[in-house]
Amino acid sequence: MPIDATLPYDDANIFARILRGEIPCTRVYEDDHALAFNDINPQAPHHVLVIPTGRYVSWDDFSANASDAEISGFVRAVGAVARAAGLVEPGYRLLANVGGDAHQEVPHLHVHIFGGRPLGPMLA
Ligand code: C5P
Repeated sequence: MPIDATLPYDDANIFARILRGEIPCTRVYEDDHALAFNDINPQAPHHVLVIPTGRYVSWDDFSANASDAEISGFVRAVGAVARAAGLVEPGYRLLANVGGDAHQEVPHLHVHIFGGRPLGPMLA
């Protein structure tokens, strides 16, 4: 079910539990500001989720309320994950769903990295 991205942060959400180590994931990158792991239902040969280590519901919450250090650390981590996977050439796609119309399902900000095949034109 899509979430309401205006609701307060819920510490019981599944990505909060992954960050606390309560639920396993296949980690591909971790630093002070970000954790990246393989999506359990991959939509491309390379499908990784990058999440901030801080408590942010969505891109909206993060961009409004995170510190400059958190934002720069997270953005650099997303780039580093794609670079380390060798995706810069031939290319990759970033996606962050926010709220109900975008069908955001997990109420902790996550950026999808898709790659490993031609992804076609962007869908609206
Ligand atoms: O952007 P959205 O919220 O719709 O995407 C949630 C993503 O989280 C899905 O791609 C889903 O496969 C992934 N997921 C995951 N591990 C979980 C729960 C969800 O990789 N334990």
